[in-house]
Amino acid sequence: MVREAVASDGWSALERPLERALGKRTAAALAKLELRTVGDLLSHAPFRLAHRGELMPLADVREGEAATVIARVTDSRMRPMNSRRGYILTVRVADGVNELDLTFFGKSPRTLDFHAKRLASGVVASFSGTVSSYRGGLQLTHPEYELVEDESDVAKIARPIPIYHATDRLPSWHIRKAVQSVLQALAPSDVPDPLPGEYLAAHRLPSKFEAMRALHCPEDDEEWRAARLRMAHEEAYVLQAALAQRSHRARERATAPFPLADGGLLAQFDAGLPYELTSGQREVSADIAADLAKTTPMRRLLQGDVGSGKTVVALRAMLQVLDGGGQAALLAPTEVLAYQHMRTIEALVGPLAPVELLTGSLTAAQRRRTLARVASGQAGLIVGTHALFSDDVAIPFLGLAVVDEQHRFGVDQRDALAGGGVHTLVMTATPIPRTIAMSVFGDLDVSVLRELPAGRAEVSTTVVPASKEAWVERVWERLGEEVRGGGRAYVVCPRIEDDDEGLPLASVADVSAELREKSALAGIGVGTMHGRMSSEEKAEAMERFASGRAPILVSTTVVEVGVDIPEATAMVILDADRFGLSQLHQLRGRIGRGTAPGVCLAVTSAEKGSLALRRLEAFASTTDGFALAELDLQLRSEGDVLGAAQAGRGSHLRFLSVAKDRKIIETARAAAREAVAADPELVDRRALAEAVAAIDAGRADYLERG
Ligand code: ADP
Ligand code: MG
Repeated sequence: MVREAVASDGWSALERPLERALGKRTAAALAKLELRTVGDLLSHAPFRLAHRGELMPLADVREGEAATVIARVTDSRMRPMNSRRGYILTVRVADGVNELDLTFFGKSPRTLDFHAKRLASGVVASFSGTVSSYRGGLQLTHPEYELVEDESDVAKIARPIPIYHATDRLPSWHIRKAVQSVLQALAPSDVPDPLPGEYLAAHRLPSKFEAMRALHCPEDDEEWRAARLRMAHEEAYVLQAALAQRSHRARERATAPFPLADGGLLAQFDAGLPYELTSGQREVSADIAADLAKTTPMRRLLQGDVGSGKTVVALRAMLQVLDGGGQAALLAPTEVLAYQHMRTIEALVGPLAPVELLTGSLTAAQRRRTLARVASGQAGLIVGTHALFSDDVAIPFLGLAVVDEQHRFGVDQRDALAGGGVHTLVMTATPIPRTIAMSVFGDLDVSVLRELPAGRAEVSTTVVPASKEAWVERVWERLGEEVRGGGRAYVVCPRIEDDDEGLPLASVADVSAELREKSALAGIGVGTMHGRMSSEEKAEAMERFASGRAPILVSTTVVEVGVDIPEATAMVILDADRFGLSQLHQLRGRIGRGTAPGVCLAVTSAEKGSLALRRLEAFASTTDGFALAELDLQLRSEGDVLGAAQAGRGSHLRFLSVAKDRKIIETARAAAREAVAADPELVDRRALAEAVAAIDAGRADYLERG
């Protein structure tokens, strides 16, 4: 077992407050970066390495090039800047033949004191930076430097320089100094390693202690990369151990079994179903039926592209539970969807079983009555929004929780309803690439509905450049044709109203007003829908749209998920580049749900060749959600490379990319599952247990960002 060494002041090395390790001032500055302990500081990894230029004589220094010179300080002076507030420290250095100026800027003389003191006349140091010219002379601005005290220091000078995310008041070099000072005080036993020795040996990875050193002061690039690779393995391993533990714990709790019964509601339902189940629906249903018959709670993720017919699969599971005397709840992400589900279920189940709807907009009296029927067990089928999570909701015989469109809910919510102890079916229409499924839903069994029910119409997609007015006019004419041919058309905008401050984006208010004036659309009713409308207003808008009284619906993405109007054949998405790829796919899934072919027109001002336009082109290239999800992942990884600075923040994954590190994830997953199977509570793996406790397995935020 790994035991952390406890320092004489009572703190284990990594938990030691920075105030004790580095003093008040530095600790206060580091606290701005949320770094409070030695461990925090060590996990603030440099995001890149800078390389010193070739060591060269001052005479060879060229403007615009990286250079490292060894020189002696001959003079230094501090003065206020002329044109703005602040001070400038100029240090002149010479190598006996040539001279070079170094400049440092600071808010006050005090902030520059550190350099002024270290770079006193006579001191020899190596200076690295990019050479610029100023008033005819060459200079280095804020160079990195190392004092040269004796010959052996020259080796140190050859090392790359780690560069940290920094703040104005806390520059990278300052963080570097703090980290180095903390590192020097650490012994190998101070840094417990969540990864077991065999794993390290099998994959030739350094220990965590070695990795910490190599991350913050590598000898060379190779060592730095090896350290990062090791940390990626650790993140994958810890995450997978957390998921394995979650799954193990959930499966340990027994729940009520609901074996298939003859002649019950499910059998009646099947007999009355107006269509044949697809073979995919039958297979998935059989798996679910088998899960429900067990006392081990089902934990299953059903992935099925938009329109693949997940609802009927869920409903069959719910009826199986009802047949066994239990209650079943279906959780929808929005009121519109909850309402629609209730209507669908009522239509399909008819008089077989009553359905209760529980959303936030019930009146107090309605709510009281609904809760009473649910609490008494009289209501077996319950459909609701997050209102189902309220404390006053009791579902005493809950046997199955179905969570629709999972990406709108966090893992925590999923478990909150189910308490982890009832059968749970999670459904998502966002096809999830395999590595991400393993990382985010790694604790669930996965079923996939690949085919769409037969007879589903094709949807063709065209990207329309907003700059081509004639094309955009043609879009509206096309809408008119669709509607006159009996179809319905959605027009999706990123905004509800115009926003004076922000970018000029299409808004529901403007666009609906504009369309009502269009001669190409004369006599066609135009409705609107958005999240600021009450649920009655929304239901009314949906009703006018569905019935054809207002066959053009200008809306925000409230129509995104699950809305099912078979007559809808056209969709125009304005400022389409404002939406994520999976969101666009969801939107497009609202059309082509009947037999008439659909047309989707994505209008955009995105520049030719931009990542935004390439995403839209990918969107137009396929309607296969799984193919799109993979394309999305590739494009995202490119985007992440560009925006690496932001991308790393907010997620607990700093080294691991769920998009790219598939091999690492698979390797770590296998090993972590074995470890948890052998020692479920990780009693002999304290370092791992602590690492698992420290992360929130649910916060892999890929889906949130979708
Ligand atoms: P999603 O998977 O997107 O939730 P739905 O469950 O809303 O899809 O189903 C989409 C449409 O397909 C619905 O109108 C539903 O009635 C219909 N449907 C489902 N299964 C079949 C089937 N086997 N054959 C024909 N139509 C089906
Ligand atoms: Mg659905």
